[in-house]
Amino acid sequence: IARLNKIYRSDSGPLHALQDVTLDISEGEFVSIVGPSGCGKSTLLKCIAGLEGISSGALNLRGKAILEPPEDMGVVFQRDLLLEWRNILDNVLLAAELHDAPRARYESRARELLDLFGLSAFLDRYPRELSGGMRQRVSICRALLLDPQLLLMDEPFGALDPFTRDELNVELQRAWMATGKTVVFITHSVSEAVYLGSRVVMMARGPGRVAEAIPIELERPRGLEVRETAEFARY
Ligand code: ATP
Ligand code: MG
Repeated sequence: IARLNKIYRSDSGPLHALQDVTLDISEGEFVSIVGPSGCGKSTLLKCIAGLEGISSGALNLRGKAILEPPEDMGVVFQRDLLLEWRNILDNVLLAAELHDAPRARYESRARELLDLFGLSAFLDRYPRELSGGMRQRVSICRALLLDPQLLLMDEPFGALDPFTRDELNVELQRAWMATGKTVVFITHSVSEAVYLGSRVVMMARGPGRVAEAIPIELERPRGLEVRETAEFARY
């Protein structure tokens, strides 16, 4: 991501949501992004996912410009966006359908993922029968179905209670360590960012009406020390 700018145009005038954001993300990294509300975190994620057009700058994935959400990307939002009329297995398989991939080829993978997240007993249940944490686990399974190299998450656990959130943090970390995926994780919680991230990027809001994003990178070697501190902070 190089000198990325995003200006929203609306009736009330232009809004400079991202200003010259430059950020390099290496394969296999877990990048946590923290910052105050309105600083442009979701905008950045939507730009990476190709869900918002960019105003200027460069957005490359493995050296190639991102023009539309590639199959190689999974996205999880704060609201789980499950389809209420489809059972859990079918919600996960939606990822295959959206990319015109044969459903049958992914069914066993979907079962495997749901099993990994402790949901094998719920395959034929409907979203309304699940708790918030379980629903968000289903969204994560859906995002992982096509085995994307890049996983984008926008405050995925923001709506969950602290206990469920802790559980999911542990599960996500385990999944990350097991799969070596590149993860961009947005959160309001600094402790969550530090606990999960192999690197934490802070976005700050500039003065005045113009939202300015200044990524400050805190290199944090993923190590026992950081994890123990974070672990301790949870109690
Ligand atoms: P939060 O932590 O509350 O989710 P955020 O850091 O994700 O905030 P964004 O949602 O990226 O912030 O918004 C950044 C700025 O862009 C805000 O000032 C917001 O009002 C503006 N904005 C976001 N989406 C749009 C849109 N579709 N049209 C116009 N302005 C927008
Ligand atoms: Mg947001």
